[in-house]
Amino acid sequence: MSVPVRKFDAVIVGAGGAGLRAAIQLSEAGLKTAVLSKVFPTRSHTVAAQGGVAASLGNSEEDHWHWHMYDTVKGSDWLGDQDAIEFMCRKANEVVVELEHYGMPFDRTDAGKIYQRPFGGHMSNFGEKPVRRSCAAADRTGHAMLHAMYQRNVKVNTQFFVEWMALDLVRDEEGAVVGVTAMEMETSEIVMFHAKAVLFATGGAGRIFHSSTNAFINTGDGVGMAARAGIPLEDMEFWQFHPTGVAGAGVLITEGVRGEGGILRNSDKERFMERYAPNAKDLASRDVVSRAMVTEINEGRGCGPNKDHVLLDITHLPPETILKRLPGIREIAIQFAGVDPIKEPIPVVPTCHYQMGGIPTNYNGEVVVPSATSKSEVVSGFYAAGECACASVHGANRLGTNSLLDLLVFGKSAGESMVDFIKSQPAAHRPLPANACDFTLSRVDRLNNQRGGANVHEARLAMQRAMQKHCGVFRFKKLLEEGVQQISEIAGQVAQTEIADKSRVFNTARLEALELDNLIEVAKATMVSANARTESRGAHVRDDAPDTTERPNGRDDQNWLKHTLWFREGNRLDYKPVNLKPLSVETIALKKRAY
Ligand SMILES: Cc1cc2nc3c(=O)[nH]c(=O)nc-3n(C[C@H](O)[C@H](O)[C@H](O)COP(=O)(O)OP(=O)(O)OC[C@H]3O[C@@H](n4cnc5c(N)ncnc54)[C@H](O)[C@@H]3O)c2cc1C
Repeated sequence: MSVPVRKFDAVIVGAGGAGLRAAIQLSEAGLKTAVLSKVFPTRSHTVAAQGGVAASLGNSEEDHWHWHMYDTVKGSDWLGDQDAIEFMCRKANEVVVELEHYGMPFDRTDAGKIYQRPFGGHMSNFGEKPVRRSCAAADRTGHAMLHAMYQRNVKVNTQFFVEWMALDLVRDEEGAVVGVTAMEMETSEIVMFHAKAVLFATGGAGRIFHSSTNAFINTGDGVGMAARAGIPLEDMEFWQFHPTGVAGAGVLITEGVRGEGGILRNSDKERFMERYAPNAKDLASRDVVSRAMVTEINEGRGCGPNKDHVLLDITHLPPETILKRLPGIREIAIQFAGVDPIKEPIPVVPTCHYQMGGIPTNYNGEVVVPSATSKSEVVSGFYAAGECACASVHGANRLGTNSLLDLLVFGKSAGESMVDFIKSQPAAHRPLPANACDFTLSRVDRLNNQRGGANVHEARLAMQRAMQKHCGVFRFKKLLEEGVQQISEIAGQVAQTEIADKSRVFNTARLEALELDNLIEVAKATMVSANARTESRGAHVRDDAPDTTERPNGRDDQNWLKHTLWFREGNRLDYKPVNLKPLSVETIALKKRAY
């Protein structure tokens, strides 16, 4: 079967913050740029970001990029690469001011400057006390950001392919990336997008867990496609559980609520975070707060009839502050928890929120993998940015508001690298391999013709339950080992999924089956990487690696100060060193992480 081919200079998969920021760079440079998205661009998950974007603008009090860098390294539990972290923190002010110039409607201080609020783990003077660093547009920062960047892209003639799902990454004999195959969701037509450079900006994969703050479309497509194309995945054992998902619903209540003065309380109405993080209290880093909440619940101080959640209290704040700074949160609390936070506290539990690992890149957005001859080699023509990428700035635990910053900084730098690369290439595209579309066609063919296979919904649910139970906020040696086994069995079923109504062209079941092919790669990588890492670090905390004098917080720097690389082929692991050398300042030295 022949497949239509469309040619572009650059193809970007994903129209969230990272994809849109990169596209601006490419289109402004006059390159023919296509952006593919499963949903209309402004419905990408970035739209749901509430709390803000970090930048040491210092609009309300003194701040400095070096303090931001210190907090990010500490937040990452020293697993983040210090060159990339310095790069990001130094660029923050520039990319936020750029957004302002694109027309992003930030909230304002009385002096007319961008409004900034405190956020977990962001401190002044190398960890002294919380600082106002998160630049916010009420509790709808991501919404305002996506709209500003989409409009900018319309202005510079970026070409959007809306409701197109990329299916596979295409590499030639030399391993260079030459395009992607994609399906138009409405018609099921398969098209080859032939490009000189491809950027993956497909966002997170929080849907591998049963309870998640992530949108239904966050199915790790880019990560799955990369794994199938032989690219290893970095640090996939590290997943952030956000402390405040609405109990029972999973919908996010931003940390900005605690930034504005919200307090977590147990069934004794105690402000329990004072015991766990005497200095930062409710604004400690997310992994610390999530674990404290689970400990309170496990020790019988949970709230409600089942004692299965804690309460987030803002009833002491003036109603005007809630209405002005947190209007969306009030709406969510009323709709999903049935409480008006002006009068009653909100029931909350830790919920899967963010993927720290992903496609390995350097701070220029280039995908970098080990090869037979070298420890790190750039994959020609392939770039990644945003949540699907691992630069690595978040290491073992991301600080809130650093993700919107990550997608701006690395979206822009990936865009710049792509412009340089494309302009350095010959005018003609590299030829497509003869079998460019065969793999995709065989996958779709399986779905159309499979008989007696597994049910997509059931296989996905089994995967989500296994991840939740075996790889959650706290991890147990025995459960992890069983989890590896279970996920491998479920992967066997996923390879045989069947869709019920094969006659229909537009069929959400078919799309869900293709998404599940990606989710399962993420689940496998996560489980295998987590089982192998026998220390506790950041968001990865194991029962058999407790806090001792030799190993602060259970961390084992002797053996585990290294990044995991998971290879799909052979389901095997390799490791690479953490870059402890920043670009211009001194290394931020290892120490015990406390807030
Ligand atoms: C509820 C919530 C609140 C958050 N709040 C904050 C916050 O306040 N501050 C902060 O810093 N971070 C926050 N985060 C994290 C942050 O929003 C995300 O990490 C970030 O927005 C991800 O951006 P992205 O551009 O990488 O991907 P996304 O915005 O998720 O976009 C992914 C894009 O890829 C497309 N796509 C995916 N697969 C395919 C495919 N196969 N084919 C074609 N297109 C595809 C999608 O259609 C979409 O356009 C929050 C996250 C959530 C879930």
